[in-house]
Amino acid sequence: VSVMSSRIIDTTCAYCGVGCGMTAEVENQSIIALTGDTHHPANHGRLCVKGSTLADTVRTEGRLTQPSVSGQPVSWNEAISTVAKGFSDTIARYGADAVAFYVSGQLLTEDYYVANKLMKGYIGSANIDTNSRLCMSSSVAGHKRAFGSDTVPNSYEDLEQARLIVLTGSNTAWCHPVLFQRIKHARQKNPELKVVVIDPRETDTLAIADLHINLKAGTDVALFNGLFNYLVQQDRLDHQYLHDHVNGFEQTQTQLAGQQRSIADVAQQCDVDENRIQQFYDWFTNTEQVVTCYSQGVNQSSRGTDKVNSILNCHLITGRIGKPGCGPLSLTGQPNAMGGREVGGLANTLAAHMDFKEEDIATVQQFWNSPTIARQPGLKAVDLFSAVDSGRIKAIWIMATNPVVSLPNASIVSRALQRCEFVVVSDIVAQGDTSAFADVLLPAAGWGEKDGTVTNSERRISRQRRLLPSPGEARPDWRIICDVAIAMGFQQGFEFNSPADIFREHARLSGYQNHGQRDFDISALAEISDGEYDTLMPVQWPVNQQYPDGCKRLFKAGGFFTPNRKAQLIATTCHPPQYATDQEYPLQLNSGRSRDHWHTMTRTELAVTLNRHRSEPWVEIHPDTAVQYGIEAGHWIRIDSQWGNIRVRATISKRIRPEQIFVPIHWSRQLANSAWLGAVVNPAVDPFSGQPESKHTPVRICSW
Ligand code: SF4
Repeated sequence: VSVMSSRIIDTTCAYCGVGCGMTAEVENQSIIALTGDTHHPANHGRLCVKGSTLADTVRTEGRLTQPSVSGQPVSWNEAISTVAKGFSDTIARYGADAVAFYVSGQLLTEDYYVANKLMKGYIGSANIDTNSRLCMSSSVAGHKRAFGSDTVPNSYEDLEQARLIVLTGSNTAWCHPVLFQRIKHARQKNPELKVVVIDPRETDTLAIADLHINLKAGTDVALFNGLFNYLVQQDRLDHQYLHDHVNGFEQTQTQLAGQQRSIADVAQQCDVDENRIQQFYDWFTNTEQVVTCYSQGVNQSSRGTDKVNSILNCHLITGRIGKPGCGPLSLTGQPNAMGGREVGGLANTLAAHMDFKEEDIATVQQFWNSPTIARQPGLKAVDLFSAVDSGRIKAIWIMATNPVVSLPNASIVSRALQRCEFVVVSDIVAQGDTSAFADVLLPAAGWGEKDGTVTNSERRISRQRRLLPSPGEARPDWRIICDVAIAMGFQQGFEFNSPADIFREHARLSGYQNHGQRDFDISALAEISDGEYDTLMPVQWPVNQQYPDGCKRLFKAGGFFTPNRKAQLIATTCHPPQYATDQEYPLQLNSGRSRDHWHTMTRTELAVTLNRHRSEPWVEIHPDTAVQYGIEAGHWIRIDSQWGNIRVRATISKRIRPEQIFVPIHWSRQLANSAWLGAVVNPAVDPFSGQPESKHTPVRICSW
C-alpha cells in the first residue's frame, strides 16, 4: 500500500517465540515507524520494548558486507566455491559425517529447509543441529513421547478463556512480554482468573500471580507427580477421555503412587510451604479451564523431558487439552524455533516432522529424489561441538548464531573451532565472537532485508517481509546455501528462485504420503502463487483439506499420532540435577534472560533505550548468602565452577533463594577481563532431548 512516498508493510518481530505481527512504514530506504499489527492474532497490536525498538537496531554500521576468505575480501563466486570445495574435499577424504552445520532459530523456515535438505538429503549426514536445542528440545521430546508428534495442542487465545493459568519455569514478564500483557489484561477483565507462578526466583512475573510456588530447583517432577496423585485421590479424572484416548493410566498410576504420596511429601521435597501446594492442587483440581505454560525453566534441565511429561500427564488424565481455555502450552524462546522443527532442523528429526524410521527415510528421499539420505540421527549441539573438538568433525558451517558464547562449557567450543580444519560462519555483524574463528565469512541479510516465514509458539505461520535492501553484498541465507549446494554439484534439488518456491516445496512435502499419520501438514498451501505467498496471512497449522483455514486446537477428541492414536502417559521420577552442589561448589548458578536484551546482544546492544534497563551483567545473591561471603551490593565478585569462571557485579536481593545465584546470559565481548557466562555453565544434557542443563551449575563465589 502506498501512502505518499512511504510504503506500509506487515511483517513479524525478529525476537521471541510470541511471534508478534508488526506494521512498518518505510520511506527512503529507512523504517520511519514500526508499530504492532492490530490484525495479527498473536499480539493484536501490542509490542514489548524490544519489539517497539527493533527499527533502531537496523543499521549499516558494524555490518558484515563482503565475503572473506582467511581474512581477505573476496567475490561471492570465490567465497561460494571455497566453501563448496572445503566441504566436498572433507567429505571425499573423511566421509559425510566429518562435516556439520550448526544453525539457528533466527533463520527463516525457507533458509532452514534448504540447509536441512543439503545436509541430510545430499551430503547424507544428519550432523545439522540448531541453537533451538538450547531452547525447547525437551518440549519436542516430551510432546513426541506423549502425543507421538511434536504438536502444541492449543492457542494463545486460550489464555483469555482459561480460569487458571499456571506459568512454570517461565519469567513471562521478561521473556514473552506480550503474552504477559495478554494474561494481565485477561485478569483485569475476569477477576476470577487465577495465576500460579512456579519458579525458584521471585521474578517480575509475580506482578500477576495469585500464588507463587518458590520450589527448590529441579523438583518440578515431584510437584506435578504429586498433582497427578492428588487428582487421582480426589477422583477428578476425565474417565471417558482416559478410556478413549489415553494409554498407560494403570501402570503410571501404580508407579507414581509410590512417590509423593501426600502434600506433606511434596512440600518437603520441593521445600515449599504445604499450604501453597494445597492451594495450587485445589485450584487445579477444581478448575475446568486450565492452561499450563512452560518454558526454559522446565526445558533447560538434565531432566527436562521428564518435567514436560509430568505436566502433560496432568492435562491428559483430566482431558484438559485441545479445548477452549484448556491445555499445555510450550512457550518457545526464539522467533522460529517451531519453523526449524517443521523442516527437520534438529539432528534427530527429518523434514515435515518425520523421524529416522525406515518408511519416513524412504518418503523423504523419494520426495527429494536425492542422491543419498542420512539414515540415523546426527549429533546434538553439545556432542556436535565435542566432536569438532576431538577432530571427528573437520568442517563446520555456523549460521546466524554465536555458539562460542551461548553453548555451555563454552571454552571447549572456542578450542574446538580453533582446532577445526575448516570453519564457515554466516553472520550479519562484522565483529562477532564466533566469526573470529572463521576461515570463510559470509555476509547474511538480516531482519527486514529478506522474505520468508516463521512459526510462533501457537503453530502460527507468519510472513517476515523485506523492508529494505541489504547493505553491501549481504544475501539471504537460503540463497547462499543453494549456491553452495549447486557448487557442490547438486544442481537438481536447489534450483529455487525465491523463498516462495522453497515454501511450496516444503508444503508439498508435508502432504506427501501423509494420510493423516503426521501432524505437520500444510499441503493446502502447496500450490500458492507468488502473489498469494506475498500476501499470506498468519495461519495456524495444520492447513490441509480438513482444516483449509488452519486449526486452533488439536486432540480434544483424541487423534494422537501414536500407533493406536492414543496419548501415552509417562511414569516419571524426580531426579536431582546431574551435577550436585558440594563443599567445594556449594551454590547453584541459575541463568536466564534480562528484560531488554536478546541472546548475545548483537542486535539489542544497538538500541539506546534497551541499554537503559541494564547496561552490564549482574549476579543476584540472597542477603544471607551475601553476609556469609562478606559481599556487599556493587562488589565485583568472581564465580567459579569446575568448567570456568566469570566476574560480575553483585546485586543483593531476597528475590532469590539462599542456595541459588542468578546471572543473565547475554553479555560477552562487552566484559573486560572476564569470560562470559557460557564458560561457567556445566555441559550436562537431558538424555532424551540433548538439551543442556543451563539452569543449574554448582559454583562458588569469592570477592574480586
Ligand atoms: Fe517481539 Fe516477543 Fe516482544 Fe512480541 S513479545 S514484540 S515477538 S520480543
